Amino acid sequence: MNLIFLGAPGAGKGTAATKLSGLLGIPHISTGEIFRNNISTGTELGKLAEQYISKGSLVPDDVTIGMVKARLSEADCAGGFILDGFPRTLKQAAALDEYLESEGRKIDRVVDIVLSEAKLVERLTNRRICAVCKLSYNLKVHDINDSVCPACGGALIMRDDDKEEVIAARMAAYHKDTEPLIDYYVGKRKLVRVNSEEVVSDTFANVLAALGIKGADQ
Ligand SMILES: [Zn+2]
Repeated sequence: MNLIFLGAPGAGKGTAATKLSGLLGIPHISTGEIFRNNISTGTELGKLAEQYISKGSLVPDDVTIGMVKARLSEADCAGGFILDGFPRTLKQAAALDEYLESEGRKIDRVVDIVLSEAKLVERLTNRRICAVCKLSYNLKVHDINDSVCPACGGALIMRDDDKEEVIAARMAAYHKDTEPLIDYYVGKRKLVRVNSEEVVSDTFANVLAALGIKGADQ
């Protein structure tokens, strides 16, 4: 199954995508991860992307599209994939459709994870990531007394992206660029909406129901 997960930063799409990836045995492709890999290995596209990310701006379409195409051409994507954080604009969506069509592939479903803006800001400012194992915690949900990861002992940090001054810029960019995508995929009859107001495990159950997939424990 070739899937796209949409939803504002903090809506819980990353967590749901990771779980679905494990259940279906297909790669979860987050643009954040693609950016970090390209930056850490010093590719030309990675160097360009880094300049924008450090300012809290979105990376230009051509740079992002180039990195995503390279990732989707890898062997592990042949049996399906979950795109998380891409496409972000109509231009990216059109480029993705064009690329997949040229390969005889297509997007099957687009999952839009919906959460109110107040809840989004609350989730992001309370999010902490382990610098070592990359597990994500929420200060309001998890009982964390100090800044140490309960799983591995690594330091818990707040991502630069989650700081309040950067969140405002991310939200503005999200609304301007991504909401037209909803209409685009509704027009193609590929969009399914999933509510995420409650806890993250419910969100995953809602995703499975929306896609007509049976959970491992159901
Ligand atoms: Zn850890």
